[in-house]
Amino acid sequence: MVKSKKPVKAAAGKPRQSAKKKPAARAAARPAPKAKPVAKKAAPGKPAPATPTADPFGERALTAVFTELFRRAATAIPPDVLAALEKAREREESGSVARDTFDVLIENTRLAREDSRPICQDTGMPFFEVAVPRGASLGAIERAAVAATRAATKAGYLRPNSVDSLTNKNPGDGAGRGMPIVHVHEGKGKTLSAHLILKGGGCENVGSQSALPNVDLGADRDLEGVKKVVLEAIFNAQGKGCAPGVIGFCFGGDRANGYNEAKRQLFRKLDDANAEPAIAAMEAELLEKGNLLGIGPMGYGGKTTLLGVKGSYLARLPASYFVSVSYMCWATRRAGVDVLPSGKAVYSQ
Ligand code: SF4
Repeated sequence: MVKSKKPVKAAAGKPRQSAKKKPAARAAARPAPKAKPVAKKAAPGKPAPATPTADPFGERALTAVFTELFRRAATAIPPDVLAALEKAREREESGSVARDTFDVLIENTRLAREDSRPICQDTGMPFFEVAVPRGASLGAIERAAVAATRAATKAGYLRPNSVDSLTNKNPGDGAGRGMPIVHVHEGKGKTLSAHLILKGGGCENVGSQSALPNVDLGADRDLEGVKKVVLEAIFNAQGKGCAPGVIGFCFGGDRANGYNEAKRQLFRKLDDANAEPAIAAMEAELLEKGNLLGIGPMGYGGKTTLLGVKGSYLARLPASYFVSVSYMCWATRRAGVDVLPSGKAVYSQ
C-alpha cells in the first residue's frame, strides 16, 4: 500500500513559500496574462454581439454595424410596409385569390422575422446611402459595406447574389464590381447615418425610363405627361415586379441621375407627405389610379396594385425631359442606422 503524502499546511494567513521554486511553479506564480477578448459567436438566427472599438466610424466597427443592418433589412419587413399589406388584405374579398395571396405574403414576413431568414430568395442588390461626419474616411465606409456584404452572405442573411458580368461566374460572397452600390456624402453633425435598401431583380427589371414627349402616349413635357408615362410603367409591370409595388419616380436630370433619384425615393416611408404640394398631389393621384388597374398581388387581380408612390424631380437640360421609374416589389426591404460618436448604433426601419 502506498502511503499518501500529507498536504503541507501553510501557516494561517500565509501561503507557504518554498526556498527555490521549480520552473513550473515559477510559471504558475507569474500573473496570468490578460485574456484577449474572444468574439462571441451568435446563436443561430441572432445578430452577432457588437465588439466595442475605439473608432466608431472605422472599417472594423462599421463592418459589424452594416452586417446587422443587412440582417434587419433582409429579414424584417418595415412596420409601415407590413401595415400596408395587412390593410390591403382586408380590402379583398374573403376566399379570393388576392386575399389568400396576401395571407401568404404576410405569413412569409412573420416567419422571416422570427427565424432571421431572408424574406425572399432574391435578397436583392444592396444600395447604401451614407451621410458621414466631417473627417470620417469615405474609403473605410466603402470597404465596410463590401466586407459586410460578404459577412451577411456568409451568415445566410443574403443569397450569394453577385455575378461577374464578364465571366458569368458567381464569386459566392455577394460582392463584385459595383456591388454593393454605395453612395457616401458628407452629412451634418457628428453622427453617421446609413440607409440600405435591398432591391430584387424581378422588380428592377420592370423599371423604366422615357424621354418626353411620347407621341404614342400623348404625353407632353409637363406634369400630365409625367403621370401618363409613370402609369404606363405600372401597367406594363403587371405581376412581373411581384406586385403590389412601391413606385419611385423622378422627372428631369440626366438618365443616370434620374434613375438614382427615382430609386432614392424608395427610402421614404409609405405614409410620408412630399414637401412639394404639386408632387404630393401627383403621388396621391398615381396611387389611386394605379390601384384602379386591378393587377393585384402578384398579378392575380385585386384592389391593391400599389402600396405607395413617391416622386421627385431634378433640373434638366432644355433638350431633355426624362421620366425615370423605379419599381420596388411587395418585399420592400429597407433599414437605417445612426452611429453615434460613442459607437452606439441606433437602428430604424
Ligand atoms: S421582385 Fe421582390 S418579391 Fe419578387 S422575387 Fe424579386 S425580390 Fe422577391
